[in-house]
Amino acid sequence: MAIVSTSETPNTADELPPADELRRAGLRVTAVRVALLDTVRDGDHLGVEGVAEGVRDRVGHVSLQAVYEALHALTAAGLVRRIEPAGGSPRFEGRVGDNHHHLVCRSCGAVADVDCAVGEAPCLTPADDRGFTLDEAEVIYWGLCADCSARSTSSTSLT
Ligand SMILES: [Zn+2]
Ligand SMILES: [Zn+2]
Repeated sequence: MAIVSTSETPNTADELPPADELRRAGLRVTAVRVALLDTVRDGDHLGVEGVAEGVRDRVGHVSLQAVYEALHALTAAGLVRRIEPAGGSPRFEGRVGDNHHHLVCRSCGAVADVDCAVGEAPCLTPADDRGFTLDEAEVIYWGLCADCSARSTSSTSLT
């Protein structure tokens, strides 16, 4: 069963090796899943293509279908978080469980993390909950990233 290399040391003391985290989440440990967890955590809100690239760098050729399956399993288990800004493709990240939000650039699509001002979900209260039991408010702050802001003010020919 020990098909997976665990030679990499964990980043922090309380962080389990990826294989152990998979086991603890009740998931079967596969090389693809371990590579995927590593890739998503190393990456910065990667899209599916970026995730596939990172997995292939680690374990060799893997089909896109296998990457999708692993993403689905890890997302469902709460080890990976999926965000999907409107009009964009899904992004994946390893920072989970802290209800952080995202800043998204309308121009280049850059995504950055921002801590939740309240700290826990749901961090917004609707004027009227209409009888719903709410557990989360999805917050995305839209605007221009620093680079795109600088570009749009320095070049007035662009809208
Ligand atoms: Zn931008
Ligand atoms: Zn994030």
